[in-house]
Amino acid sequence: MNKLENTIYSDIAGPAPRHHTTQVKVGDVAVGGGAPIVVQSMTNTDTADIDGTIAQVAALARAGSEMVRITVDREEAAAAVPHIRDGLAKRGITTPLIGDFHYIGHKLLAAYPACAEALAKYRINPGNVGFKDKRDTQFADIIEIANKNNKPVRIGANWGSLDQELLTKLMDENAASANPRDVRAVTREAMVQSALLSAARAEELGMPKDRIILSAKVSAVQDLIAVYQDLASRSDYAIHLGLTEAGMGTKGIVASSAALGILLQQGIGDTIRISLTPEPGGDRTREVQVGQELLQTMGFRTFVPLVAACPGCGRTTSTTFQELASSIQEFIRDEMPNWKSKYPGVEELNVAVMGCIVNGPGESKHANIGISLPGTGEAPAAPVFVDGKKFRTLRGPTISADFKALVIDYIDQRYGQGAKVPVTAAE
Ligand code: SF4
Repeated sequence: MNKLENTIYSDIAGPAPRHHTTQVKVGDVAVGGGAPIVVQSMTNTDTADIDGTIAQVAALARAGSEMVRITVDREEAAAAVPHIRDGLAKRGITTPLIGDFHYIGHKLLAAYPACAEALAKYRINPGNVGFKDKRDTQFADIIEIANKNNKPVRIGANWGSLDQELLTKLMDENAASANPRDVRAVTREAMVQSALLSAARAEELGMPKDRIILSAKVSAVQDLIAVYQDLASRSDYAIHLGLTEAGMGTKGIVASSAALGILLQQGIGDTIRISLTPEPGGDRTREVQVGQELLQTMGFRTFVPLVAACPGCGRTTSTTFQELASSIQEFIRDEMPNWKSKYPGVEELNVAVMGCIVNGPGESKHANIGISLPGTGEAPAAPVFVDGKKFRTLRGPTISADFKALVIDYIDQRYGQGAKVPVTAAE
């Protein structure tokens, strides 16, 4: 192997070791310090709408969100928080709630102690916790309340609401230096400093390091990568990763996956959120699904059985293939909340749905259970493979239902109580 090949192969051998960070407990959830990377999400309901917020937090939790952030922007919202916590508890949902505070967080937390108690973490944006003389006192007020309640904080710098006094100071210093850097580099440095200086201030105020999580969110992928690399190299605080204002649909998914994927591969990031803008009337739980799929496809965690499906081509002119791939995927996601407790380990399952004989049997054999549908011109028969061996051939209009039944049988035999290795006798 030549030097170049050697470099390439060693680079793609797997992710870098996780960056060492101090572990923080958010409710019962461990963040950092080598704990599994946590998926979190945020509601877009009015927090004062107690029922609506309970319903959305429940949906996000059911989708797999391990922490949920809610906006606490005014008195009505702060007053609602303990009722939301209680309502969730009645439904058996213990997912930690994080309060998102801007401008008046110090006042709301002081005036609504039940809100301060019900939240598992407070998110503070150092860019808008207060201005001029008030900034330090208002920040100190929040830290004092967090300390009193033994709550962790996330100090979340954001490109869109960066601490302007700090940015101006760094810009002035840069302009006066012999080798001034470009504006973006200075802004990135301001992001990092804003987070680190605020964390240092929180520690001076008595907050232990194991109750501080940092984030520094930017909307441009390359800036985000640079900021987080810098942040990780200059501290060992637990790190929340997210591309802010990622956008809608495929753009948001691609941008978030590109940015977060690179950082995670470099061992950076203890918890993630995918900030997708939902389509009008769209499903908020999509951001949880994307976060889970990012971590699972990169091999960091397993959440749901993966369905491998070929893209289809001119050999799959009927819609049978797309319909089956899509309905199996949906079926698995819908069933997963029930399967999780009933079938421990089921999230490791691999299913393949393939469109024709070219790659169908081969790919299906690599899955735990796979089906190779007939392509155009092939005999109308769909061989099913279980643990690498041909198990049965399905025919006729009930192929989809028959295959789902085989998937359930497989799961029950492999992961159910008294599980045994599934039947793999050839037909
Ligand atoms: S497996 Fe068959 S249908 Fe699917 S992409 Fe390959 S050639 Fe096309």
